[in-house]
Amino acid sequence: MSVKTRFAPSPTGSLHIGGARTALFNRLFARRHGGEFILRIEDTDAGRSDEKFFSEIMDSLRWLGIEWDDDQTLRQSERPDIYREYADELLASDDAFRCWMTPEDIEEERRFCKEHGKIFRYNRDWAERGKKDGAPFALRFAVPRDGATVAVDDKLRGKTAFETDDIEDFVILRPDGMPTYNFACAIDDALSGITHVIRGDEHLVNTPKQILILRALNLPVPDFVHLPVILAPDGSKLSKRHGAVSVADFRKRGMLPSALANYIARLGWSCGDEEIFTMAELEEKFDLGGLGTSPSHFDEKKMLWVNGVHIREGKTDIIEPLRREFADMGLDVSPADAEKAFSLLKERAETVVEMAEKGAFLFRDEVEFDAAAREKFINGETLPALEAVLGAFSASGGGFDADGVKAALSSVTEKTGMKLKQLAQPLRVALTGRTESPGIFEVAAALGGEKAVRRVERAVNIAKSGGRQ
Ligand code: GLU
Repeated sequence: MSVKTRFAPSPTGSLHIGGARTALFNRLFARRHGGEFILRIEDTDAGRSDEKFFSEIMDSLRWLGIEWDDDQTLRQSERPDIYREYADELLASDDAFRCWMTPEDIEEERRFCKEHGKIFRYNRDWAERGKKDGAPFALRFAVPRDGATVAVDDKLRGKTAFETDDIEDFVILRPDGMPTYNFACAIDDALSGITHVIRGDEHLVNTPKQILILRALNLPVPDFVHLPVILAPDGSKLSKRHGAVSVADFRKRGMLPSALANYIARLGWSCGDEEIFTMAELEEKFDLGGLGTSPSHFDEKKMLWVNGVHIREGKTDIIEPLRREFADMGLDVSPADAEKAFSLLKERAETVVEMAEKGAFLFRDEVEFDAAAREKFINGETLPALEAVLGAFSASGGGFDADGVKAALSSVTEKTGMKLKQLAQPLRVALTGRTESPGIFEVAAALGGEKAVRRVERAVNIAKSGGRQ
């Protein structure tokens, strides 16, 4: 039987890294076994579903390189008739029953139990309480009351037995005819021929319900894998208050898709002590045997480190994302110039955003000075150094590569007796506006002779004017 997996997000929020990991593992597992991976949108809760999240989730998945194999994405809200048909079958076999209780009635029972120190549990005897002609009703699954257990044989954590007595008669169709999550999910997994359901372990409690539904309908039960949760570094549940958690946020912060997918894959999965993978390598190496059973901790530093490695090792196209970042800063940078910025900064930036921020000086018309740097290094004291450099740069004509710049500066130190150190920092501030940058020879070369001369000239004028320019 060939493997088929699915990712089944509810469009009630952005795609978070937990969801992205689920999607990634499902896709990798299918690929590894030559199978199929599909996307299903679980949008039967009209009140909480939003079209905006539907497209955002799809965008985030595509951006991460998690493509799905079906062109026609299944949307549960478009299939109420199918669920109704199966619900009728359950009704006919007495595996489901009608319940007229209103949410207010249930709430009242809940309050009563609370007041009397009892644990609230739905009681099948209440089902007909509000019954009258035309009154809306829900359909509930009649959980067998025979003291049996439902065993979930998880491929990662082994068997967990759930006592049916602990499972209440849960709603399968709401009064408006829409199915609940457990019902639609079980039916669709079976109808789509899903062989493996890989999802977060918050769904482990739902699995026995889904197994009961499938058994009652004589539908195939897939294999299950419940992934351990991803925690924040402090051990609490990862949430917005820990900073970015959605794929869209990480994208905005300059993560590369290949690096984010790489980092996410390592949350709960390992392959010896390897850390760096391309998507193709993940597809080749991923298997369930590498999954761990303990929670993983989100570690931003490590994520950025992985991003830095992907940047340095050119694991993915970086020129286009970098050009987009520059464009967001109002800088129209050609692919060749972006390539130049990349070579200059690849050892110094962990994200594309950081790279663009550090490289913007190359493309601005005028240097934007850091005020303290300007005051300290562009002044009467450094004026002789700046003037000497200006002379050497102006005389150097063409040949303005890193070696040429080095030669020009050496000629200055020889002639004037100044140390390279005395020249380098004023020159750095003159060229970049800041006290930190890549090597000064490379920076000057990347700017090119003409721009470098113009900037040193401006610094000379500022220094002459006592900083008033
Ligand atoms: N719609 C569910 C969710 O977003 C899917 C759970 C499942 O994979 O079965 O959590």
